[in-house]
Amino acid sequence: MAFRLARLGVLAVFAISLALPAAASATSGGASAPPETGAGYNPGAPSGGAAAGAVEPPARPPKPSKHSSGGDHKGTHRKKHSTKSRPRFPIAGPHNYGGPAARFGAPRGNHTHQGQDVLAAEGTPLVAPLRGYVKYVSDQPCCAGIYIVMHASGTPYDFVFMHLQPGSVRVGQGQSVQPGTRIGSVGHTGDATGPHLHFEVWDGAWQAGGHPIDPLPLLLSWDH
Ligand SMILES: [Zn+2]
Repeated sequence: MAFRLARLGVLAVFAISLALPAAASATSGGASAPPETGAGYNPGAPSGGAAAGAVEPPARPPKPSKHSSGGDHKGTHRKKHSTKSRPRFPIAGPHNYGGPAARFGAPRGNHTHQGQDVLAAEGTPLVAPLRGYVKYVSDQPCCAGIYIVMHASGTPYDFVFMHLQPGSVRVGQGQSVQPGTRIGSVGHTGDATGPHLHFEVWDGAWQAGGHPIDPLPLLLSWDH
């Protein structure tokens, strides 16, 4: 009898145990009752677990946006970190972008212009736009004049600065630079008719597998 009662379910057993204490003791002695009761409750557990699992994952932390920090030139003064790391325009002084001949891709005899010319007065400071390191410092009297190549860390880009003023170079090969680090001055060495910065942006390594891209969008994004 005890086994049959157990199979009726917990409520039936419980009701009878209240009415008949003697039967209740016999039922509780039945080893088969607790496992069945436990099995009856189990289906509820997974649904509770599923509900917990359905909780929305925490919102992703906002990614620092170079675009917004670059355009937020007034707000950056309130944030020490972003002020220190924000991109700088490579010419620290008055400048302009010249005419069509100064543009990337402009005809240059038997080739096309691989950079953007930015006109500025002789001696105007040149600075690193981004964090990185200096790859080369050299002089090519025929063409580039005194020039510096740097890699921008965390980007695929190499930057090239040409026609620097004689004696103005402030960095050496392998040196780390930060945004705003003084690297030299605007000049007109090499193939230049007047003082200007010839600025190139290479996607990949300069003269070693990369290729030049139009620097103007980057320059404009840094120019405030
Ligand atoms: Zn040029």
